[in-house]
Amino acid sequence: MQLTELKEKFTEIYGADGEPNIYRAPGRVNLIGEHTDYNDGLVLPIAIDLTTRALVRRNPKETIRLYSIDLEEGGRIPLGGGISSKKSGCWTDYIGGIIFSLDKEKRNALSGLDILLHSEVPIGSGLSSSAALEMAVASALNTEFELGLEPLELIRLCQNAENEFVGANTGIMDQYVSYFGRENTALLIDTARTSHRYVNLDLASHELLVIDTTVSHTHEGNKYNQRREECEDALNLLKKTDKLVHLSSLSDLSPEDLGYVNSTLPEILANRTRHVVEENQRVKRAAALLAEGKIGKAGELFFASHRSLRDLYEVSCPELDFLVNFARKQGIPGARMTGGGFGGSTIHIVPEGDSDTYLKEAGEAYLAEFGIEAEGFFVSPSNGLKEFTS
Ligand code: ADP
Ligand code: MG
Repeated sequence: MQLTELKEKFTEIYGADGEPNIYRAPGRVNLIGEHTDYNDGLVLPIAIDLTTRALVRRNPKETIRLYSIDLEEGGRIPLGGGISSKKSGCWTDYIGGIIFSLDKEKRNALSGLDILLHSEVPIGSGLSSSAALEMAVASALNTEFELGLEPLELIRLCQNAENEFVGANTGIMDQYVSYFGRENTALLIDTARTSHRYVNLDLASHELLVIDTTVSHTHEGNKYNQRREECEDALNLLKKTDKLVHLSSLSDLSPEDLGYVNSTLPEILANRTRHVVEENQRVKRAAALLAEGKIGKAGELFFASHRSLRDLYEVSCPELDFLVNFARKQGIPGARMTGGGFGGSTIHIVPEGDSDTYLKEAGEAYLAEFGIEAEGFFVSPSNGLKEFTS
């Protein structure tokens, strides 16, 4: 949607009373390093060239009014008389959560605001429309009300909103890369230290293609949170042994420790642990290979990551497996599920020139297998909030 159209919509909803200010934040794709961020491990995401925009204007009421063009739905968050900790169970919780997570003094600095939201990031596809929404709104609040939040505070605020308020126990990656992302670059994030290194990507005439399965199996119990708990259980059991009493996270284990892990933990927890340890290794190697344009070898790590997520971490599903197997059969360098799993998206490294045909054929094969239309998006490593000048 063009900016002029968005501004017209803003006037239509909130009236003509001055120009809104515009804030935006991108979605992301994680190249490799899945389910490692909440284990103090490594991840390698890129910010993508799809953003969520928040058009905002102060209002004289003690209310934050919201409207999402994507969901064609409004909402309001009253500010006076104490902010409610009550969740509404709908999308406005992402914003209610941000406000509720602010400390009292900053909360008191807020006053009425009209917010119009529009997302280019497909919603619920694993490209983190949720973080894009949070970061766009949080940066709007930070600037409009001069809250003085530093980048990491902003990032943690949004993560906290998602964890505590919405109830999705996600790690810090999504918000972090939405802020720090940079063109042609991936972010090697060390989540234990909350620090990153930029990795210049040499894709050697390849494109990054995301194919969304358009299915979600997350209703089958909250398996994401269950995996998190399993990792905590594994860590606690390992720490009870003399050898690993000082272990602070599963990511502190090395591949050499895995024999001991296998002999100590129940099979499922040992498998989860092995995934985390080996995935961290893959992230390090993939970052080095992608910087050197060694796409074939990096792609092999993508396939290996997928196998591990499927067999050891058990977060894949038939639809994701089908698309990754399709990639294998077509002989492209690499593909894997990306995001939390149980549906959502896959990422494929496809040679330039073949990519449109590849997407078409993958879509046809997927439709024939499942009777569902997949959706494809070519993505390129793009700037995050920090790099935006307008
Ligand atoms: P993902 O982050 O991969 O897109 P999530 O399930 O984490 O998937 O987040 C999607 C949810 O975030 C939506 O169901 C909705 O509640 C909220 N959301 C994201 N973008 C918007 C938007 N533009 N307008 C309203 N709600 C949104
Ligand atoms: Mg999300």
